[in-house]
Amino acid sequence: MIIGSGLSGLGTAIRLSQRGVTDYLVVERGADVGGTWRDNTYPGAGCDVPSHLYSYSFALNPHWSRSFSPQAEIEQYLRQVADRYGVRDKHLFDTTMTAARWIDADGRWEVDTSNGAFTADFVVSAAGVLAEPNVPDIKGISSFEGEIFHSARWNHDASLAGRKVAVIGTGSSAVQIVPSIAPQVERLDVYQRTATWVMPQLNRPYLAPERFAFQHVPGLQRMIRALIYIAREAFVVTQVKLPWTGLLLETVGRVKMWLEIRDPEKRRKVLPKHRIGCKRMLVSNKFYGALDRDNVDLVTDGIAEVRARSIVTEDGTEREVDAIVLATGFHVADSPTFNLYTGRDGRTVSEAADAEGYQMYKGTTVANFPNMFFMLGANSGLNYTSLIYIIESQINYVVDAVTTMRQRNLQSFEVKLDAQHEYNRGLAPKMARTVWVTGGCTSWFLDKHGNNSALWPDFSFRYRKLVRAFDIEAYETTAKTP
Ligand code: NAP
Repeated sequence: MIIGSGLSGLGTAIRLSQRGVTDYLVVERGADVGGTWRDNTYPGAGCDVPSHLYSYSFALNPHWSRSFSPQAEIEQYLRQVADRYGVRDKHLFDTTMTAARWIDADGRWEVDTSNGAFTADFVVSAAGVLAEPNVPDIKGISSFEGEIFHSARWNHDASLAGRKVAVIGTGSSAVQIVPSIAPQVERLDVYQRTATWVMPQLNRPYLAPERFAFQHVPGLQRMIRALIYIAREAFVVTQVKLPWTGLLLETVGRVKMWLEIRDPEKRRKVLPKHRIGCKRMLVSNKFYGALDRDNVDLVTDGIAEVRARSIVTEDGTEREVDAIVLATGFHVADSPTFNLYTGRDGRTVSEAADAEGYQMYKGTTVANFPNMFFMLGANSGLNYTSLIYIIESQINYVVDAVTTMRQRNLQSFEVKLDAQHEYNRGLAPKMARTVWVTGGCTSWFLDKHGNNSALWPDFSFRYRKLVRAFDIEAYETTAKTP
């Protein structure tokens, strides 16, 4: 059973089918495939990884309209991929997984859903990393009488034109929302808790001859994809290997501020206090220009309280507002999904993570949770290149594991605790020197213990090598009973 049909779940379904494993079911709470690209429909939503790299390797798309794809095109691409590979009838849409328990005596999972209960030999949790909106617990927020919604649950019925609007947060979502709505609203207050570095983007429409060439010149798209991949890996040097080289990028960021913001006060406020890359770098050619508009205010005083029609900051200023957009990110290491899986010893993933930290083996399996894979699990995220590269690497591992188990007539596998600990001990020194830990910031990469349990601290091709084949010797296995 696969939980979720975003990039990870859909890709796993397709790859399983291609390897002849067809007795699977995908449970998806939404009405269609697409995951984060189905849910994030806010104005300006798009991908800040180049289009040619942001697709499955087995389903390149020569029809991208721009060098960086807008959300609607990626969503449409995923729907078309689901149709082309004929996996739609393997899905139960509008079905929420509500609980899953490992039944040791049977060597299987019992999975409860809003559409009935199932048993499964293997569970693939592909529920998404950026899937559960973080709605901040600000005093009085529930008493707000205007429109209020999270960036990932955009209310398209709410008209913002000519209204007083507040955007809380200045992360990757906010830098796309703010320039998109600033020209139409009467006033826009952008509440920034932490300034983050913003980099320029070479985003342009593809010309018809280029699109023709992507479609008809053999190997052209693959070559461009490979070049983009290599160029993006250079960020590993600035973030992981030699963080001081980030100073060059910071110079670019400073010049950009000077060129794009006239107001010296706003320029001072947007200057980050941490090293570049510590928080995910923002990419936008329009964000600073939007902040510089006369109808936009950049508020850096902390929010003390939300009232029925206003927001009050800690300095006592009250700003009237008709609508609030919460661009406040997601629950990552504390995802509520982790409360739903109960492992062999009766603890949930959250309870185990509370006790031992949020750790996995090779970012995808974890002791006490037999026959289970977490897509984009602990320390397998990336923040500089296409996550699809990691997703496809993990899919190879999952498919190899399932087919190996069947070939050897095995019922269950569980990673050996020693193997899991040794693997994580190996990550620790690499992580210790990354800018994510040393750069002087907090971010969603860090769990509540302050450990970076989100990102992979090395080149992405090293991760792919690590999960190329299912290493059964790292697992305890049991045979199928006749
Ligand atoms: P995010 O990066 O986690 O940013 C959340 C923002 O909300 C931060 O500025 C944060 O401030 C602020 N915030 C959170 N709680 C707050 C509170 N109680 N009061 C005031 N401010 C608060 O979330 P996101 O922008 O949705 O992006 C999440 C991730 O999604 C990104 O890192 C990226 O991986 C992905 N994404 C990608 C794209 C793209 O490809 N273009 C677009 C959108 C999102 P602090 O910094 O102080 O915590």
